[in-house]
Amino acid sequence: MDHLAVKFRERANDIDEEGKFPFANMKELKESGYTSLTLPKEYGGSGISLYELLRLQEKVAEGDGSTALSIGWHMGIIKNLSEKRIWKEEIFHEVCEQVRQGALINSAASEAQTGSPTRGGKPQTTARKDGDVWIINGRKIFTTLSPMLDYFIVSASIEEQDEVGNFLIPRSTQGVSIEETWDSVAMSGTGSHDLVLENVRVEAENLVEKIVPGKKGANGWLLHIPACYLGIAGAAQKYAVQFAKEYSPNSIQGSISEIPSVRQKIGEMELELMKARHFLYSVAKQWDASNEEERTQMAAVLSAVKLAVTNGSIKVVDLAMRVVGARSLSRQNPLQRYYRDVRAGLHNPPMDDMTIEILAKNAISR
Ligand SMILES: Cc1cc2nc3c(=O)[nH]c(=O)nc-3n(C[C@H](O)[C@H](O)[C@H](O)COP(=O)(O)OP(=O)(O)OC[C@H]3O[C@@H](n4cnc5c(N)ncnc54)[C@H](O)[C@@H]3O)c2cc1C
Repeated sequence: MDHLAVKFRERANDIDEEGKFPFANMKELKESGYTSLTLPKEYGGSGISLYELLRLQEKVAEGDGSTALSIGWHMGIIKNLSEKRIWKEEIFHEVCEQVRQGALINSAASEAQTGSPTRGGKPQTTARKDGDVWIINGRKIFTTLSPMLDYFIVSASIEEQDEVGNFLIPRSTQGVSIEETWDSVAMSGTGSHDLVLENVRVEAENLVEKIVPGKKGANGWLLHIPACYLGIAGAAQKYAVQFAKEYSPNSIQGSISEIPSVRQKIGEMELELMKARHFLYSVAKQWDASNEEERTQMAAVLSAVKLAVTNGSIKVVDLAMRVVGARSLSRQNPLQRYYRDVRAGLHNPPMDDMTIEILAKNAISR
């Protein structure tokens, strides 16, 4: 992975500047077998642990944040399905077979009217039963990885029933299209465009799961999100430390790495990263060592990890830019990209205010 991360870093600036989707990175991830690592062993994967997945995701993000967040959804969703086996086994098996051959999957849950699906809004996308098929209509926003997805997991309100379902929709289905709307200054290479569904017909069994909007379970796989932002922060720290060791203005002897105020910032970055890594990886190991019942008790700590690591990462990038000074604002400088990318973490689930509320509730009820 080190070798791929170096290549990703070399391409990151172009991807960001032009808002291009990182096709080459994705192709290399597929060819290296990375995209099937979370498949269960019996279906041709490696069944890697959450801890292993996060270590790898952090490394990918050191190279390119957009690539890491994009592939993280795919890796995490497959891991979650492998652990929980909530889908009918034949469907899951078929998806695994396709993933083994390079297919990619992501969930398209966000809509303009609902905002973040974690808030509990009911999808405006609808599913209507017509004999043995479902007819799905709607529009999803923020569909990361859309330029290369083979499967979309689409949440839709089921007409004439007060229920919401997740529908598995292959890209090749008639009526599926992508509208290229993604123009974000952060994570610009994630291809998080709109997914448009016009009279999309899928089999009855493609309703893979009924869901309750906003119901918060314990989802270890979502830790791919903080792992991504931690990777970006790690890259920022490396850049800033290297800069501090090399930059030698003629007002001083030696480099700025010997100046107390710069050392203070470098030490603070190190402390933030240490705290973030310990929290993230100890909880990941706890997840790996827990049984299904124990995992259901981990929702609060998983949310807390996301909040702490993401905000810690934002702080690290900020400190790195203070070390480097105004050069960090140059378009050629990776720090300005890290600065924009790392902030996207605030808007990935779960959101900070919801986490704080859960923690407050737990503390008060105790
Ligand atoms: C880089 C990136 C990649 C993404 N990839 C995907 C993806 O692959 N699939 C996908 O489905 N989604 C994806 N998303 C979307 C993401 O999950 C959120 O849906 C999206 O960021 C909108 O969240 P929000 O908090 O800004 O929006 P909103 O929920 O609209 O919130 C906007 C503001 O209103 C407040 N607010 C809104 N409703 C409430 C409420 N009920 N209670 C309290 N406060 C409220 C929020 O606190 C916030 O301040 C992605 C987002 C980003 C940034």
